[in-house]
Amino acid sequence: MKCPRCAHPDTRVVDSRPSDENAAIRRRRECPKCLYRFTSYERAQFEPLMVIKRNGRKEAFDPDKLLRGLMIACEKRPVNVERLRAFAFSFEDRFEGGSDILSEEVGRRAMQFLRPLDEVAYIRFASVYRDFANVNDFIAEIQDLERATPEILEVAGVVEAVAKTKTRG
Ligand SMILES: [Zn+2]
Repeated sequence: MKCPRCAHPDTRVVDSRPSDENAAIRRRRECPKCLYRFTSYERAQFEPLMVIKRNGRKEAFDPDKLLRGLMIACEKRPVNVERLRAFAFSFEDRFEGGSDILSEEVGRRAMQFLRPLDEVAYIRFASVYRDFANVNDFIAEIQDLERATPEILEVAGVVEAVAKTKTRG
C-alpha cells in the first residue's frame, strides 16, 4: 500500500490486530521513506449499504466521503483523525447487507458521533447536513449548547445569515 503522505510505493506493517469484533483487520503501517504512520482496514465485501439521497437517487455508501466530511468539520480542532476514520469505516457494519439508509440519517448519526467529541466540529458538520427548513430549531439548539463559546455562536450567526439568504431567494 502506498504512503498517503509522500506516495512512496510501499509501506511496512508495524502492527496488525482484529477490529470491529473480528469483522476487520486493522493494520498500523509505516512509510520507510518519510516515516509517516497510518492505519488501514481490511474487510470482506458484503452487499453495500445504499444511501438514498434527497433527490431520491441511490448510491453505495462511501466511507471515504463520510470521512472527508468529518475531517473538514474537524479542521484545526483537537480531534484524533483515527477516531474519525474508525467511525467512518465501521459505519456500514451496523447494517445488514443490502440495507438502505436516508442520507439525512447518515448525517444525523455522524452528528451524534461528533457532538461529544467537539462542539465546534459538530456545528460545522450540522450546518452542512441539516435541512435549513428547520433552521430556527437548529439555531435554538446551538444556543442551548452547554459550552456555547463565542466561536460556536459565530458559526450560528453564519448559519442564520445563510438561511436568510435562502428564504429570500
Ligand atoms: Zn511516505
